[in-house]
Amino acid sequence: MKSFIDVSKNSDFSIYNIPFGIFRYNGKTAACTRIGDTIVDLDACQKSHIFKGIDLPEDIFHSENLNSFIGLGKHITSPVRIRIQEALTLGGALDNDTFRNADIFINADRVEMLLPLNIGDYTDFYSSKEHATNVGMMFRDPNNALLPNWLHIPIGYHGRASSIVVSGTDIRRPYGQIKSPNQDNPEFSLSKELDFELEMAFVVGKDTALGARIDVNEAEEYIFGLMLFNDWSARDIQRWEYVPLGPFLGKNFGSTVSPWIVTLEALEPFRVAGPNQEKEVLPYLKTEGAKNYDIHLSVALNDNKGNNKVIAQSNFKYMYWNMCQQLAHHTVNGCNVRIGDLMASGTISGPTQDSLGSMLEITWKGTRPIVMPDQSERKFIHDEDAVIMQGWCEKGEIRIGFGSCEGKVISGL
Ligand code: CA
Repeated sequence: MKSFIDVSKNSDFSIYNIPFGIFRYNGKTAACTRIGDTIVDLDACQKSHIFKGIDLPEDIFHSENLNSFIGLGKHITSPVRIRIQEALTLGGALDNDTFRNADIFINADRVEMLLPLNIGDYTDFYSSKEHATNVGMMFRDPNNALLPNWLHIPIGYHGRASSIVVSGTDIRRPYGQIKSPNQDNPEFSLSKELDFELEMAFVVGKDTALGARIDVNEAEEYIFGLMLFNDWSARDIQRWEYVPLGPFLGKNFGSTVSPWIVTLEALEPFRVAGPNQEKEVLPYLKTEGAKNYDIHLSVALNDNKGNNKVIAQSNFKYMYWNMCQQLAHHTVNGCNVRIGDLMASGTISGPTQDSLGSMLEITWKGTRPIVMPDQSERKFIHDEDAVIMQGWCEKGEIRIGFGSCEGKVISGL
């Protein structure tokens, strides 16, 4: 496939991708996709009758979020994506001067990308065995790093949806209760151990009723697509507060998502098997076939003086528990899920030193600092540092990606 719009070889937005997002430009907010460096206004496409024959409600794309569109179901959203792909192909429906001159195409530099979902609930899993092992070694007991339940349950907790922001939004360093090991009592202070967590999140594409379960073998029908996700974490606040109920204010001051939702259909060519599961899982968690995806992930740290360093390269395929197992587990007790809910993977750490998905692990609690190009050191994130995450898939000629998930840390109030 080839588009009539220029797409550079390393672009995340090839004709094979066709992700969905929400843009604002010239006072208009609507759904869009992107090809190369061009934003495609889907509302304008609909008004130009590109989706003729597909049962789409009028003005479905003229919206501040994608929830209603996603809620139409894959039997609609899938043909819509394919129709866009066809229309953008060389000789396709949009390949003529009438459309080129219409307001359908906008340079990506000129638009503001918005949070594309109304996120009702956000759950964070803890599904990378390498990450869970590393954190267990540092926070608890090196000899029993992985707790006994970990190999049987996709561990997770309920996060906070209200503080999820789109890429490009500054993150303010939080205050909180912090107690260092040599203090008897906690103090109220700015976090000195601000960290990122390299994660991916999937978007729930279909509601369930309270009391209903999602069968692990049907779970993909409930997953619309994926985004990059940075679960910012204040380790010093987290360390003091997390026993016995888990993360709270050390996590809920902000999480950043990339603006594009890449569909499961686009990711299909990159499906791979996950790691071998060491313990026999209960029947409701048993999946067959390849349920992971080969998605390269990278994290760069960028200060405000032009120093830039790639500090981690990981892959989504390392996840021990797959998304189907997460969703089946989440609903096995009858908990309902809703369109637009986000389910994050948990920090995605790989098996090697250069594939660790958080500063906590990369610097091993600050004991082996990152050295930036100007020789300054980082144990954790400094004010004015930006964290830039990227994710992409490649196979032969096909490359698709997620754009970037960026956030700069600014000083606390
Ligand atoms: Ca997390």
